[in-house]
Amino acid sequence: MTALVEAGASLRQLQLSLPLDPLENRILLCHALGLSRVSLITQSERMLTQEEAAGLGALVQRRLDGEPIAYIVGEREFFGLPFRVGPGVLIPRPDTELIVELALERLPEKGRLLDMGTGSGAIAVACAHARRDASVTALDLSDEALAIARANAASNSARVRFLRSDWFSAVGEEHFELIASNPPYIAAGDAHLSEGDLRFEPSGALTDHADGLSALRIIIEGAPAHLAPGGWLLLEHGYDQAQAVRALLQARGFSEVQSWRDLAGIERVSGGRLP
Ligand code: GLN
Repeated sequence: MTALVEAGASLRQLQLSLPLDPLENRILLCHALGLSRVSLITQSERMLTQEEAAGLGALVQRRLDGEPIAYIVGEREFFGLPFRVGPGVLIPRPDTELIVELALERLPEKGRLLDMGTGSGAIAVACAHARRDASVTALDLSDEALAIARANAASNSARVRFLRSDWFSAVGEEHFELIASNPPYIAAGDAHLSEGDLRFEPSGALTDHADGLSALRIIIEGAPAHLAPGGWLLLEHGYDQAQAVRALLQARGFSEVQSWRDLAGIERVSGGRLP
């Protein structure tokens, strides 16, 4: 069997010959050799050693076996910030930047924000980083997720308080001007769970193992007791759940109930305001 990556090839040749798409080739090359994107260009004639070729070949093989590129390199950019990620947390999606934008627009000066099911900390850390005046709390049930989220808050110098909590169970009597969540919302047995990156992500972050709405129902049910008057609840959900989530929000007495579209034009976030 020939090696996936031959020693003696130049960085320029390798970028053309690796079997992944050009962006992924570049990301793995930079990661394997510890180079910045700029060095990859300025050192384009540099040759790989045997050891470097073997290391890069192993990474390329993992990618060919389906492992998400963000887990291989241990990092993903979200809202312009680097986030550490690993198999214990969902990989932050560009779609989720929408809920961050909506939260930042609605959070009052010195507002209190709660991110429920924070995972890598993406929503909480992006908000706390953008709004130094805010008091941001993030909770998750998973200790592994909380460890990663804490590291992301520290590396991005974001001030976030973390709680280990099964939804509202450890929140006590606290109130917030804004509650945001990207909970598990994929229905049990949905075909997407056995495709692409999702196969490698924690199932507890993706699916409620039920109809896809059970975590959303728990959050909508409990939120009024933890929102300040006029406070907002913002929820990310699946491509076909907007109508159901709006109906749940209306039934729970929320006002200004509406949905917002992501970059692909899909209703991705729904929310409402406590009267
Ligand atoms: N947005 C993810 C996906 O469909 C799912 C995230 C979630 O369940 N919260 O790929």
